[in-house]
Amino acid sequence: METRQLSSADLIRLAETYSAHNYHPLPVVLSRGEGVWVWDVEGKKFMDMLSSYSALNQGHLHPAIIKAASEQMGKLTLTSRAFHNDRFGAFCELICKVAGQESVLLMNAGAEAVETAVKAARKWGYKVKGVPADKAEIIVCRNNFHGRTTTIVGFSSEDQYRDGFGPFAAGFKMIPYDDIEALRNAITPNTVAFLVEPIQGEAGIIVPADGYLKQASEILKANNVLLMLDEIQTGLGRTGKLFCYEYEGVKPDILIVGKALGGGVFPVSAMLSGKEVMDVFTPGDHGSTFGGNPLACAIGIAALNVIVDEDLPRKAEETGRYFMGKLARIESPHIKEIRGKGLLVGVEMKESSGTARPFCEHLMELGILAKETHHQVIRFAPPLVISKSEIDWALERIAKVLR
Ligand SMILES: *Cc1c(COP(=O)(O)O)cnc(C)c1O
Repeated sequence: METRQLSSADLIRLAETYSAHNYHPLPVVLSRGEGVWVWDVEGKKFMDMLSSYSALNQGHLHPAIIKAASEQMGKLTLTSRAFHNDRFGAFCELICKVAGQESVLLMNAGAEAVETAVKAARKWGYKVKGVPADKAEIIVCRNNFHGRTTTIVGFSSEDQYRDGFGPFAAGFKMIPYDDIEALRNAITPNTVAFLVEPIQGEAGIIVPADGYLKQASEILKANNVLLMLDEIQTGLGRTGKLFCYEYEGVKPDILIVGKALGGGVFPVSAMLSGKEVMDVFTPGDHGSTFGGNPLACAIGIAALNVIVDEDLPRKAEETGRYFMGKLARIESPHIKEIRGKGLLVGVEMKESSGTARPFCEHLMELGILAKETHHQVIRFAPPLVISKSEIDWALERIAKVLR
């Protein structure tokens, strides 16, 4: 078919006619991006303060990432893991060194890396810990978000994520988030892992008490249970550290990353761990046709290098502190609470002011793209490359909407 120059309204109509209705997007149709900015098909400019749920920490079209992707696209893009490719080893080494882990298993979407971690923890439980066959238990938290596969939604506490999709996999035990006693009480001899987000993103930027992960880590260690951290959203600089767990001085036994690992270009995810866990996998146990493909590896290398070379964690820490400080000074009758770390910031609106959605729609009219999460919370998570003057530009408009 020829490409037609269609208006935003036409394009939205097409999407609504032919696409599954599994999302409720803001009514804006984007066709170009650069850094923190995106443009719609009519040429109107917006600031992207969602960053595709933290998959764009490096900003749109980061030149180094686009260059690496374009060069690789001219050479080799896919081999499958039936053969080696010349970018794979280098990416595996880089991500292990950056994350301080011994071994990595590359996947594509975040949910696949979570599934990989679930499989690794269970098999470790049977082969190393000595849990009886099919008895492995994994502890998860209420209001978690780990993805959308049937196994993962099976241990969600969100009714809508589950409704109509059962029956679900067994072997998961749910406890309240940020509750050390509940964790202690939930552990049995068959517990293999505790799967947790250092900050619950989709739940509305829920930041646990200082020391939560530290205490959890000690209890787990004492019981020979793996700490399995989902840093898909919080990792790679977003919260002001390369990984959010660094605030607590803990080290995960299994680390799950995704989103910004693909530099805003391509889905790249990974499960990392020590050899004791990773070596439970033998050829044929697990796999992915696209996982670890040369294009993904080239992009992943560039994506990680940008985060490290441009010191994006420190930038996020500084800019985030400035942003939250200014937000707190906005006099608004609607704000219940402002919380977050680095550039992962949630503004919770009072129930009496209605849901966050109309505030997001108003922000959009003023040129800021942000999205509500969990009805009452506006999430602000701009690319980490955002400058102070760009933050000021946003604050001016945010203040207008929140007053
Ligand atoms: C986005 C996200 C996932 C799922 O990643 P997908 O790439 O959408 O499958 C899992 N965990 C967390 C914490 C996330 O934010």
